Amino acid sequence: MAVSKRASSSPASSGEAAFEPTRAARRHLVQPWPVAGEIGDEARGLIGEGDGVHVSDGEGNWLIDGPAGMWCVNVGHRRRELAEVLHDQAMALSYNSPWYTMNEPSARLAERIAAHAPGDLDHVFFTTGGSTAVESALRFMQFYNNVRGRPEKKVILSRGGAYHGSTFLSASLNGRPRDRDWMDGVDDLVVKLSCPDPFRRPAGMSVESFSDKLVAEFAETVERIAAERIGAFVGEPIMASGGVIVPPPDYLKRIAAICRDNDILFVSDEVVTAFGRLGEVFASQSVFGIEPDIITFAKGVTSGYFPLGGMVVSARLFDEIRRSNRSEAMYAHGLTYSSHPVGCAVALKNLDLLEGGILEHAREIAPYFQDRLKSLEELPLVGEVRGAGLMACVECVADRESRNPLTLDKEVGKRIDAHCHELGLLVRPLIHMCVMSPPLIITREQIDRMVAILHEGISRTMDDLR
Ligand code: PLP
Repeated sequence: MAVSKRASSSPASSGEAAFEPTRAARRHLVQPWPVAGEIGDEARGLIGEGDGVHVSDGEGNWLIDGPAGMWCVNVGHRRRELAEVLHDQAMALSYNSPWYTMNEPSARLAERIAAHAPGDLDHVFFTTGGSTAVESALRFMQFYNNVRGRPEKKVILSRGGAYHGSTFLSASLNGRPRDRDWMDGVDDLVVKLSCPDPFRRPAGMSVESFSDKLVAEFAETVERIAAERIGAFVGEPIMASGGVIVPPPDYLKRIAAICRDNDILFVSDEVVTAFGRLGEVFASQSVFGIEPDIITFAKGVTSGYFPLGGMVVSARLFDEIRRSNRSEAMYAHGLTYSSHPVGCAVALKNLDLLEGGILEHAREIAPYFQDRLKSLEELPLVGEVRGAGLMACVECVADRESRNPLTLDKEVGKRIDAHCHELGLLVRPLIHMCVMSPPLIITREQIDRMVAILHEGISRTMDDLR
């Protein structure tokens, strides 16, 4: 006889033992990014509730949400306005098929996003998140070149340190070693360039010369592969998961110019940087002075209250496609949840909140946030604190002179995280780095507390390593 599986029900109704979420998760819930030795049996800490910039853990302790979930809870937790919209839109229309019909929230949101996007970027396609946004942009590039009669123009340029997602093609662009060590990708379609990390530039080289070197590498790569074969460059304006890597000034503008001269689409992956993280709805033009062909977004578009992403595309590309003589060709790409009415309604209200003062607050408080975090550089374990807007990274090094992270205890980030957790702060450790990207509503007092805890957490880690 087959063993029956029964889901746990509430103890009140069944008289069974109390539900233990961490136990059930270890048995049945597969977590993202597990390592082989623990896959399918991972112990991860429970998050209970969220409120403002705080979340509670399994023991009911309240912690500052240092990473805002995963760079996404921009307007903060427990926003009644967003909860009400979720409810009201689900009651009005919970779903419609985007294949045959459309809904009002998605049309309104597309119009508002188009108004914020730079240049002629005014056509919006909605997806379920960031990976599907990047995937959609890449498939759009393929379609665009196919209908223009340029089927050879498909190579994608990406960079070391990049993170663009977990679907097959978007993940093929990822440049952090651990993301690709054990996972396959579409390697014949992707060419990787150097990571534009000024902290890791060759010893003795100025940032200006480093920028020249990166731009020269880009130009040489275009020359070597041939512009006729390259469809797109995909880049985060600031590499987020790679360690908040702020590229040298003008680097992005110079890359964008090469792309324009060579008919290579510039895809600016703003999954993290859009919707307020840098104080603007989109940062490509307002912060970096570039006008990409496509911008991808997700995360902050709904502040994480609903899984939604998308891409906003230059009208010129649509004109070219329409003008091609391939009117029968179908952009055979769509998701069941494209243009989801609930997600789009939440995003509209989220945008109201951002425009109603949160963007302004983010712009005002960002220098204080960066300044206070920078003070952590007085600790010998800290090699550099860098960032922009409300995103920052504390990078630890084994030796400040050589900036060498390699001989560091690999668990250093985890150690800092554990100490900070005890002290009341959630950290996002990335091996030897701690990334900070709190909800944009964070106050000066909360920043002070965050930095004080980090200082103590890092000091305790230094004691551990002695
Ligand atoms: N692009 C960037 C820059 C990201 O940081 C991420 C996720 O962290 C993604 C794409 C993938 O987004 P998602 O996890 O929503 O699929």
